[in-house]
Amino acid sequence: MFTRMDEIIIEIPNVEKPDPNAAAAVQELLGGKFGEMSTLNHYLYQSFNFRSKDKLKPFYDLVMSITTEELGHVELVSHAINKCLRGSTDYKEPDKTPLGSVQDARLSYHFLSGAQGAMPFDSMGNPWTGSNVFNSGNLVEDLLHNFFLECGARTHKMKVYEMTDHPAARAVVGFLLVRGGVHVVAYAKALEIATGVNVTKLVPIPSLSNKSFNEARKYEEKGVHTKLYTWSDTDFSTIDQIWKGTHPEDALPLEVIQGSPKGFPIPEAPSVEEEFAPGISAEDFKAVAKRLKQEGNIKE
Ligand code: MN
Ligand code: MN
Repeated sequence: MFTRMDEIIIEIPNVEKPDPNAAAAVQELLGGKFGEMSTLNHYLYQSFNFRSKDKLKPFYDLVMSITTEELGHVELVSHAINKCLRGSTDYKEPDKTPLGSVQDARLSYHFLSGAQGAMPFDSMGNPWTGSNVFNSGNLVEDLLHNFFLECGARTHKMKVYEMTDHPAARAVVGFLLVRGGVHVVAYAKALEIATGVNVTKLVPIPSLSNKSFNEARKYEEKGVHTKLYTWSDTDFSTIDQIWKGTHPEDALPLEVIQGSPKGFPIPEAPSVEEEFAPGISAEDFKAVAKRLKQEGNIKE
């Protein structure tokens, strides 16, 4: 089971800098083959289908807890896309072509299919597919795939960071580089425990350090790359049998935190009248509520 909080993991800069093409680039990190929907669903299905979990509890706990973090990443990267889209159009009468300013945006779906919000697509508008998910049931094979997936996800994040300097995109991608780096090391350590092979010697892949990116370095300076969360108040604590020792890049001590980090308020999204969203005003809502009360003969 999951619980949900009305929070996101980091504060996204509150900038009014519409950039639909930046939003399209960030879509790759949501619905691309190496995006957050892929990492989420890999670990989700590996956790559902895990065999001998009692005997292999630290590995099971690792996949269970990282799954939950990935769901929060899907949420975070979606809000980054929304921030990039925000303010792309202005309200005008239909005959004045209010959506004309986005006619040449690389992803029309943001404007035609939805109302300027994130969608489960990659940067080219291809829908995310379950065929991206790998779950052989063989523990070492799955961990090896997860290690590769997180390295690939890291490469994609680095390229998107290099493609756009939109402050919301950079803030989120920088943070996700750090958290993805944690998952790379966690799966490398899990493989070392399962096989005796020192996989951490391979990192970082690509060889460029997260510390080369301003928006990632600021989190590493706070030690965000040394912490692994259980995302549960009581369960999954045996991840400390995997997440232990020191970080392979800067030798800082690793720490397991029971529970979740404190989040930040989810940004408010204004109405987009030219897209008919939400299509109901606060006054409309009050009038409907009043009518329902009268019909139900409910007194104030
Ligand atoms: Mn992630
Ligand atoms: Mn990850």
